Amino acid sequence: MPGRIKRISKSQYIKGLQCPKALWLFWHRKDLRPEVDERKQHVFDVGNEVGRLATEFFDGGVEITEAYNQIDKAIDSTQKAVKGGAKYIYEATACSDDGAYSRIDIFEKVHESDVWNLIEVKSSTSVKDYHLDDITLQRYAFIHAGYHIHKSILMHLDRTYVRSGPIYVKALFKLEDCTEIAEMKIGKVQAHLNQLITTINESREPSAEIGSRCKTPFECDYINYCWQNIPEYSVYNIFFGKKLNALHEKNIIDVLDVPDTFETTDRQFIEVDAYKNKKIYKDIKEIKSFLNTLIYPLYFLDYETISPAIPLFDNTSPYQTIPFQFSLHIQEKKGGEMKHVEFLHTGDDDPRSYLTKALVENCGTKGSVVVYNQPFEEEVNRGLGYAFPEYKKKLESINERMVDLLIPFSKRYLYHPEMKGSASLKNVLPALVPDLAYDGLAIDDGMTASLQYLKCMQGTASNPEKETIFKHLKEYCALDTLAEVRLLEVLHKAI
Ligand code: SF4
Repeated sequence: MPGRIKRISKSQYIKGLQCPKALWLFWHRKDLRPEVDERKQHVFDVGNEVGRLATEFFDGGVEITEAYNQIDKAIDSTQKAVKGGAKYIYEATACSDDGAYSRIDIFEKVHESDVWNLIEVKSSTSVKDYHLDDITLQRYAFIHAGYHIHKSILMHLDRTYVRSGPIYVKALFKLEDCTEIAEMKIGKVQAHLNQLITTINESREPSAEIGSRCKTPFECDYINYCWQNIPEYSVYNIFFGKKLNALHEKNIIDVLDVPDTFETTDRQFIEVDAYKNKKIYKDIKEIKSFLNTLIYPLYFLDYETISPAIPLFDNTSPYQTIPFQFSLHIQEKKGGEMKHVEFLHTGDDDPRSYLTKALVENCGTKGSVVVYNQPFEEEVNRGLGYAFPEYKKKLESINERMVDLLIPFSKRYLYHPEMKGSASLKNVLPALVPDLAYDGLAIDDGMTASLQYLKCMQGTASNPEKETIFKHLKEYCALDTLAEVRLLEVLHKAI
């Protein structure tokens, strides 16, 4: 049990606005804090790299180097840097008497005055609502610590920046003046702050209803704790808004308890009824009509991609999707042999030209290209066509031949209760093709594939590690297209 807490940082303030209980748990139940896994570490690493580049944008500043918990020393160092005439101060620190604590990324002196701009750096490509609460708290902390603050600025990555040679930081970032909105919001900070500090100083855990707040704007760290009694498949997977509230009021959580008379959409009815009665739904007419759209030979295609925040290659932009691997299962005729072609770029240069060449060489000129979630593959191909105009027509033709195998499952033409309200391949496959599973694969989802590949590209994996990662990537991507093959067989058998 911590002593009386008097200060909260901007990230705690944002956490508390999302859910006061989350803030209380943060302070009182350190045992529940999840470990920093590979994904979270990646987010931190990206944030640190973006922050470092932002200091190059405002070159020649003074850095406040005290650790995050040495607040008073950091406040003193900031005051010294101000008195010393610094033009920019990185990590400048201030605290209001009522407990708003801020460590601003860039503190910028306005000309030769004693007025300062606050510049908060984000690794996103736009201003989000919670950024505004963040910068408002920081404005409040500095103003109430006695500083004269002019502008509150959010500095984020500019999606229109196109790398050409070394990163040009002056074009990589976009600065958005959020002073007006911060000024509009600042009147509410004091009340929020008092309420949150009061909450965390309570000895008893506050209550909070679970719901959409647990996932927005961030997935809460305490979902495993608060949702521990919620079944894996529950009313939260099917309903939302007023219907969810109505069930909640009656303490109905388990799908088995949803009354038969409860008003549902057709889709919700299928998801409830299939589960309650262990029933498989088939719309044979729709399945037939979907299958009739297929033209042989069939090309089952899947990409793996990375989306680096800071562009790794020339002619790419922040977070641009870069495909580095594909798997292609090819079937000449119905029930015929299956040929497998795969591509994985193992060099450390831009994979796109090699991948595009291999793709158009292997995708033929006629027959359906079967994918799972067409908008994604289509968008990747459009990006490749833009980068390599010589292949544009062929890539457009591949897009025109695309058929989305997701549709029969997302539209519930075929629905198995074990799909549990989802049409994701990771849910549909075990429900309909239980002998083919991602379990046991070293890489078993797209995000892990992306992070593992980035490790190879950024030189943090040794050569033997790279070999292992490449092997795992091939196993994973091949399974994605084999899954498409097997799901199509399921659809054929269903009619
Ligand atoms: S899981 Fe939901 S209810 Fe629990 S602390 Fe987080 S946001 Fe609050």
